[in-house]
Amino acid sequence: MGLVLRSGQPIELVKQMRQSSSSMKTRKSGPVILERALAIIGPPAAGKTTLTMRLGQFPGCCVFRLREHVPETLLAATATSAERLGWLDDLTVTRALRGYLEAIIHGSTTHTVLLDNFPGSGTQAHLLIAALRRLAPASVIHVVELVVDQAVLQRRVRERRVCHRCEQDPIHDPRLPAEPSPADAQRCARCNSILHPRRGDAPRLLAARMERYAEAVAGIRTAFEGVGIEVLQCDANHPPEEIASDLSLLLATRSTPL
Ligand SMILES: [Zn+2]
Repeated sequence: MGLVLRSGQPIELVKQMRQSSSSMKTRKSGPVILERALAIIGPPAAGKTTLTMRLGQFPGCCVFRLREHVPETLLAATATSAERLGWLDDLTVTRALRGYLEAIIHGSTTHTVLLDNFPGSGTQAHLLIAALRRLAPASVIHVVELVVDQAVLQRRVRERRVCHRCEQDPIHDPRLPAEPSPADAQRCARCNSILHPRRGDAPRLLAARMERYAEAVAGIRTAFEGVGIEVLQCDANHPPEEIASDLSLLLATRSTPL
C-alpha cells in the first residue's frame, strides 16, 4: 500500500472510512450521520486537492474547500494583496464552515467530510473543533499532513497546470489540477484549452505560501494536540494519484487487507 505513516503503520482511519463506506452500501434507507472530518493539510503542491478530489467521489464523502463558500467580493479583496495571499478573516471562515457543515448534516447523506487544505492555522483548527462539537458532537476529527521532499514539491509546482475554461473561478484564479491532453500536454484533456500555471505558483507567491505553511503548521498541531488529536504524517512523495488510489481501494472494498 502506498499510504504509509512515518511509523510504517497504516492509518487506522482508513479502516474506519472503509467500514463507513461499506455500511453506506447496505444502508439503503434512513438518514446518514456525519461521523468524521478528515482534514488534509500540507505545503503547496503536496497533492491535497488531488487526494480530496478522488476520495470525495466515494459514497457518503464530500469535500470542503474554504474559498468555494466565501463571497466573491471577499475573495477578490484578498487576491489583490500578495501579503494576504488569499487569507480570510476568522468571522468569514466561521460562517463558511458552519454554513457548510449545517448543510451537509441537514442533507443526511454524508458520513465523512474531507477538508482540503483546512484548517490553515491554529485558530482555524479551533474553529473547526468548536463547530463540530456543536453541530456533530458524535463525530471525530482526523488530521493528515502530507509530507513531501522539497525536490518533489518543486517538480510538482513546475508541472502542475489549471484550466480556466473547465474551472470557472469567480476571481479567475483556478486551483483544481487539470489533466493534460495525451496528444498535447499543453492542452486540457477535457476541453482542449491551453493550460496555465496556477497564479499562486509564481515564485514570489509560492515562497511566501511555503513560508506561511511552515509557520502555521506548528499552531495547527498545537491546537489539535490540545484536544487529544494527533496530526498524522503521510509520506506523499509518490504521486498523489497513487495515494488516492490506494485509499480508494481501501474505501471501496471491505475485504482488502490493510
Ligand atoms: Zn479544460
